[in-house]
Amino acid sequence: MAAKTIAELDLQGRRVFIRVDFNVPLTPAGGVSDPARIRAALPTINHAIERGARVVLASHLGRPKGRQRADMSLLPVAAYLAEALGRDVFLADEPAGDGAKKVVNDLRDGSVAMLENLRFTPGEETNDEAFARALATYADVYVNEAFTTAHRAHASTVGMVKYVSSKGLGFQAEREVKMLGKVLGEVERPFVAVLGGTRVAEKFSLLECLLGRADVVCLGGAMANTFLSAKGVAMGRSLVEPSKLPLARAFLSKAENSGARIVLPRDLVVADDAKAEAGNVVPAATLPDDTAAFDIGPESAAEIGAALARARTVLWNGPMGVCESPAFAGGTLSVARSIALVMGGTTVVVGGDSAAAAERAGVATSITHVSAGGNASLEFVEGKKLPGLAALES
Ligand code: ADP
Ligand code: MG
Repeated sequence: MAAKTIAELDLQGRRVFIRVDFNVPLTPAGGVSDPARIRAALPTINHAIERGARVVLASHLGRPKGRQRADMSLLPVAAYLAEALGRDVFLADEPAGDGAKKVVNDLRDGSVAMLENLRFTPGEETNDEAFARALATYADVYVNEAFTTAHRAHASTVGMVKYVSSKGLGFQAEREVKMLGKVLGEVERPFVAVLGGTRVAEKFSLLECLLGRADVVCLGGAMANTFLSAKGVAMGRSLVEPSKLPLARAFLSKAENSGARIVLPRDLVVADDAKAEAGNVVPAATLPDDTAAFDIGPESAAEIGAALARARTVLWNGPMGVCESPAFAGGTLSVARSIALVMGGTTVVVGGDSAAAAERAGVATSITHVSAGGNASLEFVEGKKLPGLAALES
Protein backbone atom coordinates (compact mmCIF):
# COMPACT_ATOMS: atom_id res chain seq x y z
CA MET A 1 0.00 0.00 0.00
CA ALA A 2 1.33 3.46 -0.90
CA ALA A 3 2.31 5.75 1.98
CA LYS A 4 -0.37 8.07 3.33
CA THR A 5 0.21 11.77 3.76
CA ILE A 6 -0.20 13.80 6.93
CA ALA A 7 -3.40 15.30 5.54
CA GLU A 8 -5.03 11.85 5.73
CA LEU A 9 -4.06 11.16 9.36
CA ASP A 10 -6.07 11.85 12.49
CA LEU A 11 -3.91 14.19 14.59
CA GLN A 12 -6.22 15.79 17.18
CA GLY A 13 -4.90 15.34 20.71
CA ARG A 14 -2.36 12.78 19.56
CA ARG A 15 1.41 12.83 19.97
CA VAL A 16 2.56 13.36 16.38
CA PHE A 17 6.24 12.51 15.98
CA ILE A 18 7.62 14.37 12.97
CA ARG A 19 11.06 13.30 11.73
CA VAL A 20 12.42 16.47 10.16
CA ASP A 21 15.79 17.32 8.64
CA PHE A 22 17.00 20.32 10.60
CA ASN A 23 20.64 19.58 9.81
CA VAL A 24 21.29 23.25 9.05
CA PRO A 25 24.56 25.18 8.95
CA LEU A 26 25.22 27.18 12.13
CA THR A 27 27.13 30.45 12.56
CA PRO A 28 30.20 30.56 14.83
CA ALA A 29 28.07 32.58 17.27
CA GLY A 30 25.58 29.71 17.48
CA GLY A 31 22.83 31.00 15.21
CA VAL A 32 21.24 29.39 12.15
CA SER A 33 23.05 30.60 9.02
CA ASP A 34 20.72 29.04 6.43
CA PRO A 35 17.21 28.22 7.68
CA ALA A 36 15.91 26.85 4.34
CA ARG A 37 15.40 23.33 5.71
CA ILE A 38 13.53 24.61 8.75
CA ARG A 39 11.29 26.83 6.64
CA ALA A 40 10.52 23.98 4.24
CA ALA A 41 9.01 21.96 7.10
CA LEU A 42 6.80 24.80 8.39
CA PRO A 43 3.67 23.86 6.41
CA THR A 44 3.72 20.35 7.91
CA ILE A 45 4.39 21.58 11.45
CA ASN A 46 1.72 24.29 11.19
CA HIS A 47 -0.77 21.78 9.84
CA ALA A 48 -0.16 19.52 12.85
CA ILE A 49 -0.51 22.46 15.26
CA GLU A 50 -3.75 23.61 13.62
CA ARG A 51 -5.16 20.10 13.88
CA GLY A 52 -4.52 20.08 17.63
CA ALA A 53 -1.61 17.65 17.59
CA ARG A 54 0.98 17.38 20.35
CA VAL A 55 3.95 17.85 18.08
CA VAL A 56 7.24 16.04 18.76
CA LEU A 57 10.02 17.06 16.37
CA ALA A 58 13.17 14.99 15.92
CA SER A 59 16.25 15.65 13.78
CA HIS A 60 19.94 15.03 13.52
CA LEU A 61 22.53 17.81 13.27
CA GLY A 62 26.11 17.33 12.10
CA ARG A 63 28.15 14.27 12.96
CA PRO A 64 28.46 14.04 16.76
CA LYS A 65 29.29 10.31 16.42
CA GLY A 66 27.02 9.15 19.22
CA ARG A 67 28.23 11.65 21.80
CA GLN A 68 26.58 14.68 23.41
CA ARG A 69 28.26 17.82 21.99
CA ALA A 70 27.29 21.36 22.97
CA ASP A 71 28.31 22.70 19.53
CA MET A 72 25.86 20.32 17.85
CA SER A 73 22.87 20.96 20.10
CA LEU A 74 19.57 21.75 18.39
CA LEU A 75 19.16 24.76 20.70
CA PRO A 76 19.73 27.39 17.96
CA VAL A 77 17.32 25.48 15.72
CA ALA A 78 14.63 25.37 18.41
CA ALA A 79 15.10 29.11 18.97
CA TYR A 80 14.76 29.86 15.25
CA LEU A 81 11.70 27.65 14.96
CA ALA A 82 10.01 29.23 18.01
CA GLU A 83 10.45 32.62 16.34
CA ALA A 84 9.13 31.34 12.99
CA LEU A 85 6.09 29.66 14.57
CA GLY A 86 5.42 32.46 17.05
CA ARG A 87 5.13 29.96 19.89
CA ASP A 88 7.27 28.06 22.40
CA VAL A 89 9.33 25.07 21.27
CA PHE A 90 10.24 22.93 24.27
CA LEU A 91 13.67 21.36 23.70
CA ALA A 92 14.43 18.16 25.59
CA ASP A 93 18.00 17.83 26.85
CA GLU A 94 18.47 14.42 25.23
CA PRO A 95 17.07 12.41 22.28
CA ALA A 96 15.46 9.81 24.58
CA GLY A 97 15.26 9.16 28.31
CA ASP A 98 13.58 10.71 31.34
CA GLY A 99 14.16 14.30 30.19
CA ALA A 100 12.65 13.64 26.77
CA LYS A 101 9.76 11.71 28.29
CA LYS A 102 8.90 14.59 30.61
CA VAL A 103 8.93 17.19 27.81
CA VAL A 104 6.67 15.00 25.66
CA ASN A 105 4.29 14.17 28.54
CA ASP A 106 3.90 17.85 29.40
CA LEU A 107 2.71 18.72 25.87
CA ARG A 108 -0.78 20.09 25.37
CA ASP A 109 -2.83 19.98 22.20
CA GLY A 110 -1.28 22.31 19.61
CA SER A 111 2.06 22.69 21.40
CA VAL A 112 5.53 21.76 20.15
CA ALA A 113 8.44 19.82 21.62
CA MET A 114 11.79 18.96 20.06
CA LEU A 115 14.05 16.08 21.02
CA GLU A 116 17.78 16.81 21.25
CA ASN A 117 20.04 15.80 18.32
CA LEU A 118 19.20 12.16 17.49
CA ARG A 119 22.84 11.41 16.68
CA PHE A 120 23.87 12.11 20.28
CA THR A 121 22.78 8.47 20.71
CA PRO A 122 24.88 5.89 18.81
CA GLY A 123 21.72 3.81 18.36
CA GLU A 124 20.28 6.30 15.86
CA GLU A 125 22.69 5.45 13.05
CA THR A 126 23.04 1.78 13.96
CA ASN A 127 19.24 1.48 13.99
CA ASP A 128 19.43 0.05 17.49
CA GLU A 129 16.25 -1.73 18.53
CA ALA A 130 16.13 -0.36 22.09
CA PHE A 131 16.58 3.22 20.87
CA ALA A 132 13.93 2.71 18.18
CA ARG A 133 11.49 1.44 20.82
CA ALA A 134 12.28 4.38 23.11
CA LEU A 135 11.54 6.86 20.30
CA ALA A 136 8.31 5.04 19.47
CA THR A 137 7.05 5.61 23.04
CA TYR A 138 6.77 9.32 22.13
CA ALA A 139 4.63 8.68 19.06
CA ASP A 140 0.95 7.94 18.50
CA VAL A 141 1.41 9.04 14.90
CA TYR A 142 4.65 9.01 12.87
CA VAL A 143 5.30 11.51 10.07
CA ASN A 144 8.39 11.50 7.86
CA GLU A 145 9.20 15.00 6.66
CA ALA A 146 12.92 14.25 6.19
CA PHE A 147 13.11 12.98 2.61
CA THR A 148 16.86 13.76 2.63
CA THR A 149 17.44 10.91 5.09
CA ALA A 150 14.94 8.43 3.63
CA HIS A 151 17.81 6.46 2.03
CA ARG A 152 19.23 5.68 5.47
CA ALA A 153 17.82 2.91 7.66
CA HIS A 154 18.23 4.65 11.01
CA ALA A 155 16.22 4.27 14.23
CA SER A 156 14.20 7.43 13.57
CA THR A 157 13.60 6.75 9.86
CA VAL A 158 12.99 2.99 9.90
CA GLY A 159 13.47 1.23 13.27
CA MET A 160 10.76 3.04 15.24
CA VAL A 161 8.20 3.12 12.43
CA LYS A 162 7.00 -0.48 12.83
CA TYR A 163 5.89 0.30 16.39
CA VAL A 164 3.57 3.11 15.29
CA SER A 165 0.34 2.12 13.55
CA SER A 166 -0.62 5.51 12.12
CA LYS A 167 2.03 6.91 9.77
CA GLY A 168 2.62 8.97 6.66
CA LEU A 169 4.61 11.58 4.77
CA GLY A 170 4.90 15.29 5.50
CA PHE A 171 3.95 17.72 2.74
CA GLN A 172 7.49 18.36 1.55
CA ALA A 173 8.43 14.67 1.49
CA GLU A 174 5.20 13.91 -0.35
CA ARG A 175 6.08 16.50 -2.98
CA GLU A 176 9.54 14.96 -3.49
CA VAL A 177 8.04 11.50 -3.96
CA LYS A 178 5.43 12.78 -6.39
CA MET A 179 7.72 15.01 -8.47
CA LEU A 180 10.75 12.70 -8.59
CA GLY A 181 8.37 9.90 -9.54
CA LYS A 182 7.69 11.76 -12.79
CA VAL A 183 11.04 10.68 -14.26
CA LEU A 184 10.47 7.02 -13.34
CA GLY A 185 8.36 4.55 -15.30
CA GLU A 186 6.42 5.85 -18.30
CA VAL A 187 7.74 9.26 -19.32
CA GLU A 188 7.03 11.63 -22.19
CA ARG A 189 9.73 11.38 -24.85
CA PRO A 190 12.32 12.43 -25.75
CA PHE A 191 13.79 11.90 -22.28
CA VAL A 192 17.09 13.76 -21.99
CA ALA A 193 19.39 13.21 -18.99
CA VAL A 194 22.29 15.53 -18.21
CA LEU A 195 24.91 14.22 -15.80
CA GLY A 196 27.98 15.95 -14.44
CA GLY A 197 29.70 16.68 -11.16
CA THR A 198 32.53 14.79 -9.57
CA ARG A 199 31.17 11.75 -7.82
CA VAL A 200 31.53 9.41 -10.77
CA ALA A 201 31.80 6.24 -8.69
CA GLU A 202 28.67 7.04 -6.68
CA LYS A 203 26.67 8.03 -9.72
CA PHE A 204 27.59 5.15 -11.95
CA SER A 205 24.53 3.14 -11.06
CA LEU A 206 22.28 6.08 -12.00
CA LEU A 207 24.06 6.30 -15.30
CA GLU A 208 23.64 2.59 -15.95
CA CYS A 209 19.95 2.60 -15.21
CA LEU A 210 19.44 5.63 -17.46
CA LEU A 211 20.72 3.61 -20.41
CA GLY A 212 17.46 1.72 -20.65
CA ARG A 213 15.32 4.76 -19.97
CA ALA A 214 16.74 7.94 -21.51
CA ASP A 215 16.88 8.75 -25.23
CA VAL A 216 19.87 11.07 -24.84
CA VAL A 217 22.46 11.14 -22.04
CA CYS A 218 24.66 14.27 -22.01
CA LEU A 219 27.80 14.19 -19.89
CA GLY A 220 29.76 17.12 -18.49
CA GLY A 221 31.96 18.04 -15.55
CA ALA A 222 34.48 15.61 -14.12
CA MET A 223 32.05 12.82 -15.06
CA ALA A 224 32.72 13.59 -18.73
CA ASN A 225 36.49 13.71 -18.10
CA THR A 226 36.40 10.06 -17.07
CA PHE A 227 34.44 9.09 -20.18
CA LEU A 228 36.69 11.09 -22.52
CA SER A 229 39.67 9.41 -20.89
CA ALA A 230 38.01 6.01 -21.38
CA LYS A 231 37.78 6.83 -25.09
CA GLY A 232 41.51 7.45 -25.19
CA VAL A 233 41.46 11.26 -25.03
CA ALA A 234 44.48 12.63 -23.12
CA MET A 235 42.98 14.61 -20.22
CA GLY A 236 46.14 16.31 -18.91
CA ARG A 237 45.77 17.11 -15.23
CA SER A 238 41.95 16.96 -15.31
CA LEU A 239 40.05 15.20 -12.55
CA VAL A 240 39.52 11.64 -13.79
CA GLU A 241 38.31 8.59 -11.84
CA PRO A 242 40.86 5.98 -12.99
CA SER A 243 39.16 3.08 -11.19
CA LYS A 244 36.02 3.65 -13.29
CA LEU A 245 37.69 3.60 -16.72
CA PRO A 246 36.81 -0.05 -17.49
CA LEU A 247 33.20 0.55 -16.41
CA ALA A 248 33.06 3.71 -18.52
CA ARG A 249 34.29 1.75 -21.56
CA ALA A 250 31.72 -0.98 -20.94
CA PHE A 251 29.04 1.69 -20.58
CA LEU A 252 29.93 3.32 -23.91
CA SER A 253 29.77 0.04 -25.79
CA LYS A 254 26.49 -0.91 -24.10
CA ALA A 255 25.10 2.50 -25.07
CA GLU A 256 25.86 1.80 -28.73
CA ASN A 257 23.54 -1.20 -28.61
CA SER A 258 20.87 0.40 -26.43
CA GLY A 259 19.84 3.12 -28.86
CA ALA A 260 20.53 5.87 -26.33
CA ARG A 261 22.64 8.72 -27.71
CA ILE A 262 25.58 9.69 -25.51
CA VAL A 263 26.74 13.30 -25.85
CA LEU A 264 30.30 13.96 -24.69
CA PRO A 265 31.93 17.42 -24.68
CA ARG A 266 33.52 18.54 -27.97
CA ASP A 267 35.26 21.50 -26.38
CA LEU A 268 36.45 22.22 -22.86
CA VAL A 269 37.50 25.22 -20.79
CA VAL A 270 41.01 24.55 -19.48
CA ALA A 271 43.30 26.31 -17.01
CA ASP A 272 46.29 25.64 -14.77
CA ASP A 273 44.12 25.38 -11.70
CA ALA A 274 40.55 25.87 -10.55
CA LYS A 275 41.38 29.22 -8.96
CA ALA A 276 42.40 30.78 -12.31
CA GLU A 277 40.66 34.05 -13.22
CA ALA A 278 39.77 32.72 -16.66
CA GLY A 279 40.21 29.61 -18.78
CA ASN A 280 40.86 28.88 -22.46
CA VAL A 281 38.48 27.04 -24.72
CA VAL A 282 40.13 24.12 -26.54
CA PRO A 283 38.75 21.21 -28.59
CA ALA A 284 38.39 18.21 -26.28
CA ALA A 285 40.91 16.23 -28.33
CA THR A 286 43.73 18.75 -27.96
CA LEU A 287 43.87 19.41 -24.25
CA PRO A 288 47.38 20.59 -23.30
CA ASP A 289 49.26 18.17 -21.00
CA ASP A 290 49.89 20.61 -18.18
CA THR A 291 46.32 21.92 -17.85
CA ALA A 292 43.01 20.62 -16.57
CA ALA A 293 39.43 20.87 -17.83
CA PHE A 294 37.19 22.84 -15.48
CA ASP A 295 34.11 23.39 -17.66
CA ILE A 296 32.53 22.32 -20.92
CA GLY A 297 33.02 24.76 -23.79
CA PRO A 298 30.38 26.81 -25.66
CA GLU A 299 29.99 24.32 -28.53
CA SER A 300 29.29 21.51 -26.05
CA ALA A 301 26.82 23.68 -24.15
CA ALA A 302 25.06 24.48 -27.45
CA GLU A 303 24.85 20.80 -28.37
CA ILE A 304 23.30 19.95 -25.00
CA GLY A 305 20.99 22.95 -25.40
CA ALA A 306 19.81 21.61 -28.78
CA ALA A 307 19.04 18.20 -27.27
CA LEU A 308 17.17 19.88 -24.40
CA ALA A 309 15.17 22.05 -26.80
CA ARG A 310 13.48 18.91 -28.13
CA ALA A 311 13.08 17.20 -24.75
CA ARG A 312 9.74 16.50 -23.05
CA THR A 313 11.32 14.97 -19.93
CA VAL A 314 14.61 16.12 -18.41
CA LEU A 315 16.66 14.85 -15.48
CA TRP A 316 19.71 16.90 -14.54
CA ASN A 317 22.29 16.01 -11.92
CA GLY A 318 25.78 17.41 -11.50
CA PRO A 319 27.35 20.70 -12.64
CA MET A 320 29.12 20.85 -16.02
CA GLY A 321 32.21 22.32 -14.38
CA VAL A 322 33.61 24.05 -11.31
CA CYS A 323 30.57 26.28 -11.27
CA GLU A 324 31.42 27.83 -7.91
CA SER A 325 33.96 29.93 -9.86
CA PRO A 326 32.56 32.47 -12.36
CA ALA A 327 35.38 31.51 -14.76
CA PHE A 328 34.05 27.95 -15.03
CA ALA A 329 30.31 28.41 -14.49
CA GLY A 330 29.37 29.06 -18.13
CA GLY A 331 28.49 25.49 -19.10
CA THR A 332 26.45 24.87 -15.97
CA LEU A 333 24.50 28.14 -16.27
CA SER A 334 23.82 27.45 -19.93
CA VAL A 335 22.42 24.00 -19.12
CA ALA A 336 20.28 25.45 -16.32
CA ARG A 337 18.84 28.07 -18.69
CA SER A 338 18.20 25.52 -21.46
CA ILE A 339 16.31 23.33 -18.98
CA ALA A 340 14.21 26.30 -17.87
CA LEU A 341 13.21 26.86 -21.51
CA VAL A 342 11.77 23.37 -21.97
CA MET A 343 8.11 23.95 -22.73
CA GLY A 344 5.26 21.87 -21.43
CA GLY A 345 7.35 18.90 -20.34
CA THR A 346 8.70 17.72 -17.00
CA THR A 347 12.08 18.98 -15.81
CA VAL A 348 13.69 17.67 -12.65
CA VAL A 349 16.98 18.70 -11.01
CA VAL A 350 18.59 16.56 -8.29
CA GLY A 351 21.79 16.96 -6.28
CA GLY A 352 22.81 19.67 -3.82
CA ASP A 353 25.30 21.47 -6.06
CA SER A 354 23.04 21.27 -9.11
CA ALA A 355 20.07 22.66 -7.16
CA ALA A 356 22.28 25.51 -5.91
CA ALA A 357 23.43 26.20 -9.49
CA ALA A 358 19.82 26.33 -10.71
CA GLU A 359 19.10 28.87 -7.98
CA ARG A 360 22.16 30.92 -8.89
CA ALA A 361 21.12 30.90 -12.54
CA GLY A 362 17.83 32.43 -11.40
CA VAL A 363 15.78 29.78 -13.18
CA ALA A 364 14.68 27.49 -10.34
CA THR A 365 11.06 28.66 -10.59
CA SER A 366 10.93 27.76 -14.31
CA ILE A 367 11.92 24.14 -13.57
CA THR A 368 9.18 21.65 -12.70
CA HIS A 369 11.01 20.39 -9.62
CA VAL A 370 14.33 21.34 -8.03
CA SER A 371 14.76 18.63 -5.45
CA ALA A 372 16.08 19.45 -1.99
CA GLY A 373 16.64 15.76 -1.33
CA GLY A 374 20.38 15.43 -2.07
CA ASN A 375 21.60 11.83 -2.25
CA ALA A 376 18.20 10.42 -1.27
CA SER A 377 16.82 11.91 -4.49
CA LEU A 378 19.66 10.41 -6.52
CA GLU A 379 18.82 6.96 -5.17
CA PHE A 380 15.11 7.54 -5.72
CA VAL A 381 15.53 8.45 -9.41
CA GLU A 382 17.67 5.33 -9.83
CA GLY A 383 14.47 3.47 -8.99
CA LYS A 384 15.76 2.21 -5.64
CA LYS A 385 13.26 1.61 -2.87
CA LEU A 386 14.24 3.98 -0.06
CA PRO A 387 14.00 2.28 3.36
CA GLY A 388 12.43 5.35 4.99
CA LEU A 389 9.63 5.31 2.42
CA ALA A 390 9.17 1.53 2.45
CA ALA A 391 8.69 1.71 6.24
CA LEU A 392 5.60 3.90 5.72
CA GLU A 393 3.93 1.53 3.32
CA SER A 394 2.85 -1.25 5.66
P1 ADP B 1 25.57 17.34 -7.03
O1 ADP B 1 25.77 17.87 -5.64
O2 ADP B 1 24.68 18.22 -7.83
O3 ADP B 1 25.13 15.90 -7.04
P2 ADP B 1 28.39 16.72 -7.33
O4 ADP B 1 28.53 16.85 -5.85
O5 ADP B 1 28.54 15.38 -7.93
O6 ADP B 1 26.99 17.39 -7.79
O7 ADP B 1 29.45 17.63 -8.07
C1 ADP B 1 29.61 19.01 -7.80
C2 ADP B 1 31.07 19.39 -7.78
O8 ADP B 1 31.71 18.98 -8.97
C3 ADP B 1 31.28 20.89 -7.70
O9 ADP B 1 31.95 21.18 -6.50
C4 ADP B 1 32.18 21.21 -8.91
O10 ADP B 1 33.19 22.14 -8.60
C5 ADP B 1 32.77 19.86 -9.23
N1 ADP B 1 33.21 19.73 -10.63
C6 ADP B 1 32.43 19.70 -11.72
N2 ADP B 1 33.19 19.58 -12.83
C7 ADP B 1 34.47 19.53 -12.44
C8 ADP B 1 35.72 19.42 -13.12
N3 ADP B 1 35.77 19.36 -14.45
N4 ADP B 1 36.84 19.38 -12.38
C9 ADP B 1 36.78 19.45 -11.03
N5 ADP B 1 35.64 19.56 -10.33
C10 ADP B 1 34.49 19.61 -11.02
MG1 MG C 1 27.42 17.74 -4.30
